[in-house]
Amino acid sequence: MEKIKMTTPIVEMDGDEMTRILWKMIKDHLLEPFIELNTEYYDLGLEHRNETDDQVTVDSANATKKYKVAVKCATITPNAARMDEYDLKEMWKSPNGTIRAILDGTVFRAPIVVKGIEPCVKNWKKPITIARHAYGDVYKNTEMKIPGPGKVELVYTAGDGTETRELVHEYTAPGVAQGMHNLNPSIASFARSCFNYALDTKQDLWFATKDTISKKYDHTFKDIFQEIYDAEYADKFKAAGIVYFYTLIDDAVARVMKSEGGYIWACKNYDGDVMSDMVSSAFGSLAMMTSVLVSPDGYYEYEAAHGTVQRHYYKHLQGEETSTNSVATIFAWTGALRKRGELDANQPLMDFADKLEKATISTIESGEMTKDLALITTMENPTVLNSEDFIKAIAKRL
Ligand code: NAD
Repeated sequence: MEKIKMTTPIVEMDGDEMTRILWKMIKDHLLEPFIELNTEYYDLGLEHRNETDDQVTVDSANATKKYKVAVKCATITPNAARMDEYDLKEMWKSPNGTIRAILDGTVFRAPIVVKGIEPCVKNWKKPITIARHAYGDVYKNTEMKIPGPGKVELVYTAGDGTETRELVHEYTAPGVAQGMHNLNPSIASFARSCFNYALDTKQDLWFATKDTISKKYDHTFKDIFQEIYDAEYADKFKAAGIVYFYTLIDDAVARVMKSEGGYIWACKNYDGDVMSDMVSSAFGSLAMMTSVLVSPDGYYEYEAAHGTVQRHYYKHLQGEETSTNSVATIFAWTGALRKRGELDANQPLMDFADKLEKATISTIESGEMTKDLALITTMENPTVLNSEDFIKAIAKRL
């Protein structure tokens, strides 16, 4: 059999612990036998980040700007315990944070839906993808404890020194106050990422804020989305047969619960934080969530939503068998390969991505799965496979 060729490389970002072990197995059993894999390899494992003073993370993000498509393995974000464990020179920042700061953009998280792993919400038939604005609001706020009577004001000082004031509150008792901000360019880039991703995946886009109560702050989000939609996307959405739908956040939540899924739900920063965990737990398992960073400039970075599965790695190091779920990491690869295929008009590569996803899903649906899924499946007598045998079972179907 002739292997599928790739004309342009994918940026490959290797990672840490158990997911690093899965990474190699996926390449060995599921990719390299079928594709002449063309990647530019960056080792984002913590040891190599430490050796390069984290330059490798910056280099991998810049390479993503060059090639447009990256696939990333889960990585350790160092904390005090990791400083000792890896004898680190510094407490290096989260690679995802560094990459996001360089590429800009929005993270889309979608569950992988399979028969036998049923969502808690029984009418959810299709995935719900959450898009979270990753800038500003309460995550970059300033807070004050107010000790007693007095007034709190918002003061804007323009470049020429003129001041504009708004009263927040006349305090008659002790209390609290909070200042938040956002930026129109950041909201606009969030909007464009969402509209582009909706077109890419041919799904409706929902967006919701509390604009009836927050008549300037939230209303600005609503207005920017609408202006960009009308000017740049309305025709494209119509041609693709998809819809942009705006509503109040409380109405959105009520509709989501009654819906059958199959759309993208764009959320402000805090709403996205809360709703993405609700959606992922309701769909079954963190190990079945994919994640992609889409930049407004058309760069895509695919990964699993989960971490490095540290507990399994320590078992693996002690020679014990593990049953770690590789599905989200496999889907990170298929997402990147499909996007590479689209950009390069490489149909065999796109077809391969579809086949690998189908083989993965049908392996689970036929009852062969890892332990985390066996614990929550509605199937009777599932076969629990170890990490490598699960990947081999997929390879056999492929
Ligand atoms: P984790 O996602 O690795 O694990 C959380 C829980 O979910 C664990 O109980 C684990 O057993 C289970 N789980 C997750 N993925 C699984 C899988 N594929 N198969 C079976 N079970 C799975 O998160 P954590 O334990 O909080 O973090 C471990 C490390 O991962 C930390 O160093 C953290 O910094 C890093 N992390 C990285 C990313 C990323 O690179 N995107 C995201 C989150 C955490």
